[in-house]
Amino acid sequence: MPVCRRGTPIESQDTESMLTFPKGGAHPPEFKEQTAGLSIEVMPVPDELELILGQHIGAPCTPTVARKEEINEGALVGEVKRGLGVPLHSPVTGKIKAIGTSAHPMRVTAPSLTIGVDHEADPVQYPEQDWQSFDGSELLQKVNDAGIIGVGGAGFPTHVKLNPPAGSPVDILLLNGAECEPYITSDHRQMLEHAAEIVGGAGIILKILGINECYIGIESNKQDAIKVMTAAAEQASTGDCSIKIETLQVKYPQGSEKQLIQAITGRKVPAMALPSAVGVVVQNVSTAKAIYDGVVYGKPLYEKVVTIAGKGINKPANLLLKVGTRIKDIVDYLGGLEPGLSKIIMGGPMMGFAVSSLDIPITKTTSAILFLTEDEIDTSPHSQCIRCGWCLEACPMGLEPKEIGIYVEANRAEDTEPFGVFDCFECGSCAYVCPAKRPLVQFVRLAKMKAKRP
Ligand code: SF4
Ligand code: SF4
Repeated sequence: MPVCRRGTPIESQDTESMLTFPKGGAHPPEFKEQTAGLSIEVMPVPDELELILGQHIGAPCTPTVARKEEINEGALVGEVKRGLGVPLHSPVTGKIKAIGTSAHPMRVTAPSLTIGVDHEADPVQYPEQDWQSFDGSELLQKVNDAGIIGVGGAGFPTHVKLNPPAGSPVDILLLNGAECEPYITSDHRQMLEHAAEIVGGAGIILKILGINECYIGIESNKQDAIKVMTAAAEQASTGDCSIKIETLQVKYPQGSEKQLIQAITGRKVPAMALPSAVGVVVQNVSTAKAIYDGVVYGKPLYEKVVTIAGKGINKPANLLLKVGTRIKDIVDYLGGLEPGLSKIIMGGPMMGFAVSSLDIPITKTTSAILFLTEDEIDTSPHSQCIRCGWCLEACPMGLEPKEIGIYVEANRAEDTEPFGVFDCFECGSCAYVCPAKRPLVQFVRLAKMKAKRP
């Protein structure tokens, strides 16, 4: 009998009173104890940053600066000429040393700016403004001007998400504080340390959308955050708007958009459709904090709270980093690598990407960097599908990952569309539970490249 990786039910969970999505999911070990209790720590700025020009979905920014040009913290350094995107700002005062390419977590290289940091420069001041004095379209423009993208996921431009199509009226805002990926605690710390700003960001989004109902979903393994956020939400709720905290069961992938929407509202987003199709807009709690900073202080998004964890790093931490900080500078600051390091992952162990170079810089969407030792990863080889059906049970989208894998191995990736390959959001639940260790997410990625989108 193979070992069941579907995980054991969490006995302390009162599943009657907690919300969750109805189908599939897994219970990977949480491994959050390394960093959950560590306050956000500001890492000193290194001598040089590597700012990738493509921080968001869509085409990369075009530089608006020249080599050797001196720039101030918060200055515009890149803009999108055409199509989807947001402006890019300098995280520091300094000088453009090069306009070239950088190592990149998903591509081999990507266009970038190398910025030499002026450590003597005075920090930039961002005076507070009364956001209530702006109307919805002015607030939306400020979100765009601040270069805000979804910081917890694929980097979709936030001002586009906050301007849903006219035919899809929205009546509910959801903030995602589930943070269901193992190891990662950056949103948890943001909720504990910046609850008022997150709830303030929710108020700004409600005004932009012209609606008054917001729910913030938090998994039940973050009771301290639920308490702090409930107090902040009660204070911010007025006769005009309602902000409520919803406690979610600990179940992966509770934080994915479609699963969160179904858990909290009961609405099911149709295949290939956006959340606005069922009247919902979803934002991450850390994106709400970035919106608050961008609107109230006019501060562009150029810093990021990142969890650094795993047995392969000397000192785990939740760090506030300048976007563009290279992994090697983080490693140096935290006292170096530990013996037995086997894999470095940007993001969580379920949806993150393994990286092969310490020269890679963090982006606006980096939530974690994991330094995993041999005993923290499973390196055993995969075998043939034994048709146990566990992957079908685990898939929250009701897809058939086993068939996708079998077709890809048979060089028939182009025939996988009927098994739902384009509805797969690569959560990794199927691969996690598979007793044959089959690389089902990699099979899906291959299939997406070859199959024809309907
Ligand atoms: S098929 Fe895709 S959506 Fe379904 S469990 Fe696997 S990775 Fe997740
Ligand atoms: S792919 Fe893995 S989990 Fe799915 S049926 Fe085959 S052996 Fe079982």
